[in-house]
Amino acid sequence: MSTLQIHMFPCLSDNYGFLIHDPDSGQTAAIDTPDGDEIAAQSDAKGWQLTEIWNTHWHPDHTGGNVLLKERYGCTVRAPGRKPPLPGVDVVVEGGDSFTLGTHRVDVIATPGHTLEHVVFHVPNAGACFVGDTIFTLGCGRLFEGTAQQMWESFGKVLALPEETKLYCAHEYTMSNAKFAQAVDGGLPALEDAVARYAAMRERGEATVPTTVGAERATNPFWLAGSAAVLGERRSLKDSGKF
Ligand SMILES: [Zn+2]
Repeated sequence: MSTLQIHMFPCLSDNYGFLIHDPDSGQTAAIDTPDGDEIAAQSDAKGWQLTEIWNTHWHPDHTGGNVLLKERYGCTVRAPGRKPPLPGVDVVVEGGDSFTLGTHRVDVIATPGHTLEHVVFHVPNAGACFVGDTIFTLGCGRLFEGTAQQMWESFGKVLALPEETKLYCAHEYTMSNAKFAQAVDGGLPALEDAVARYAAMRERGEATVPTTVGAERATNPFWLAGSAAVLGERRSLKDSGKF
């Protein structure tokens, strides 16, 4: 069994696009579709034929390329259920479901909070979880639809994955998140070390995605909050725009 290959690239202003490819079966999935043209260009450049789209949630910067890519490649769109349905959906997925890319198992985990239908895709053989707008490096998605309690439970599910699991977040928000993290948990050695490392990476023009389960358990202010109530307070504080 060959190793799964993951290709990540910037899309729109601060999104990341992701492709995962199984060399044995030739199957390739795009996780979310922030920019259909860019995803097509990147998969073509790799010589990968797009066979699947996996959407984490309905927001247009995650589903905007579904229709274009489906028309171009005839790929299967797997997305969580919602009314109205996500664009081009073929297979509705929900937490607890599993499917395969080639022979590799993909587990769907429900992570309501940012939106109510939000799911993440865990690919154990790749040591990877595509977390959409649930968890960011040092951050968490805004609570547009769900509650702090839901987001806290969603964090708990993702951060219960093996420590070394790579978390592929959908945006590069790290330095803004770092400022907030230092405001609430400043002085914590693991956090200060991480922020210094991320700042140097950004100066070199590098992505701070993926992060890992272990890193977020040690440094993410919304996990260090320790409870749903404090997560909610911190989310409101960050949304106040003071940081
Ligand atoms: Zn979103």
